[in-house]
Amino acid sequence: MKLCRYDQGRLGLVRGDTVFDVTAVLDEAPPLDGPGDPFFAALADLTGRIEALAAGAVPRPLAEVRLLSPAPSPGKIVAAPVNYRAHLDEVNDDAELHHGNLINEIHRAGVFLKAPSSLIGPSDKVRQRFLDRRTDHEVELAVVIGRRADRVSKAEALDHVAGYCIGLDITLRGPEERSFRKSIDTYTVLGPWIVTPDEFGPPTSMGLKLDVNGEPRQDANTRDLILGVADLIVFASSFYTLHPGDVLLTGTPEGVGPIRPGDVINASVERIGAISVGVVAAD
Ligand code: MN
Repeated sequence: MKLCRYDQGRLGLVRGDTVFDVTAVLDEAPPLDGPGDPFFAALADLTGRIEALAAGAVPRPLAEVRLLSPAPSPGKIVAAPVNYRAHLDEVNDDAELHHGNLINEIHRAGVFLKAPSSLIGPSDKVRQRFLDRRTDHEVELAVVIGRRADRVSKAEALDHVAGYCIGLDITLRGPEERSFRKSIDTYTVLGPWIVTPDEFGPPTSMGLKLDVNGEPRQDANTRDLILGVADLIVFASSFYTLHPGDVLLTGTPEGVGPIRPGDVINASVERIGAISVGVVAAD
């Protein structure tokens, strides 16, 4: 099942190039006893209702709607710093990328948080700031949490996933803390929809690609993750509880490079789809 958010907060079931309005199901998710998005917590139990609502909905072409982030209001956006071996080598070899702070492996460095206020959908644009400094694209497999995860085991970890989508972790290079440089408004893009785990399959060998204006930049596979999705959920949830609707950005592979206003970032992940996101100068 592919589920998007669009226009004014509507929920859509996506089939091919068509979206079916299933927004009414959002009212059927029971309230949570604690933080998190009730819809993602209840999603596994609501699939029958979603199918029934779609059967009665008027189909609309996807091209006509404004796609929002498929995870509308994560309490946390958890991000893996350098989680592909080849990207680790790339960063440590280039002073423009590491700015004197040689990057530790994720086991030692831990994960970081991006501000939820940085989040946009794929129909919006990255509004680039600090045009005199380098800003890079990063394509990542993104994971949306569906069940409260507190110190979970690896065997249970993937049972806590509501779905997968494409993530862009836009990054201002420089000496500041990661969470500051990567939390600029519009610097997190999620889209175009989430794909539920039954349709996505194991996240252990999915291809991901990114080009800028058609020029290939990143082309990798999640099999080369240092910490895969299950390990990341174990690692993150050993420190803090992951709540329904929280997002994990699993890290970017090698091939990061600069973007400029006027660019179009095209990113795709196998079994999800593709997004095209424009870059403009802020104000
Ligand atoms: Mn990243």
